[in-house]
Amino acid sequence: EGGRKPLIAGNWKMNLNHLEAIAHVQKLAFGLKEADYEATDVAVLPPFTDIRSVQTLVDADRLVLKYGAQDISAHEKGAYTGEVSGAMLAKLGCTYVLAGHSERREYHNEDDALVNAKVKAAFKHELTPILCVGEGLEIRQANEHLSHTLGQLEGALEKVPADQARQIVIAYEPVWAIGTGEVATPDDAQEVCGAIRTRLAELYSGDLADQVRILYGGSVKGDNIAGIMAKADIDGALVGGASLDAGEFIKICRFRE
Ligand code: PEP
Repeated sequence: EGGRKPLIAGNWKMNLNHLEAIAHVQKLAFGLKEADYEATDVAVLPPFTDIRSVQTLVDADRLVLKYGAQDISAHEKGAYTGEVSGAMLAKLGCTYVLAGHSERREYHNEDDALVNAKVKAAFKHELTPILCVGEGLEIRQANEHLSHTLGQLEGALEKVPADQARQIVIAYEPVWAIGTGEVATPDDAQEVCGAIRTRLAELYSGDLADQVRILYGGSVKGDNIAGIMAKADIDGALVGGASLDAGEFIKICRFRE
């Protein structure tokens, strides 16, 4: 972890309406204690339609829980039907926003240039992008996972200045491990996360690379998180399915126990 504060972020994907979101955050608020937040940053990433409800609850109960969105428009404002801008997310008190989740890349044809524009849009509104990178099964089987993932990293960081890149969070998510129950081994995850940090050092500086938090994502559960977090270059987890179960998510946040 190298002095970096761990981050556990729950990606709810397209689950929980705004009322269910309130019930879920209340469970998290009841379960998570001050000591948990001191040790680990905890965030939830609900659907857009839930964010206002989550904000209201977080503000009313002064929760330390952070929240954010699953996507951001690359555009500032205007005739972009169905999109949500960085300014709108910032106004709702979002801290984080996912950029380039594999499901966006796959089902919405997001390429590295668009992900790069979304990363820049996030920084423009002082949101912290959680940049998702990672290879599919065929690329892994062809042993091209490092070049593929580092290519996505470089594409997303094109012309992003160091003072912004220093703030980014990277999530290494091998696509074959997302929602499949097939978790990468800690060694496999470390190999790629370590390579990401090395590339950040080459692109920027060793000092910057040491500061950036790199998460692993892909079928993380309460009973496999500890082995993943034990690795030198893994600073947290992006959690999909297991983030919908408050007890399981809290267990993941308490990976040290
Ligand atoms: C994700 O969607 O980012 C993810 C890691 O999903 P899951 O934990 O369900 O594999």
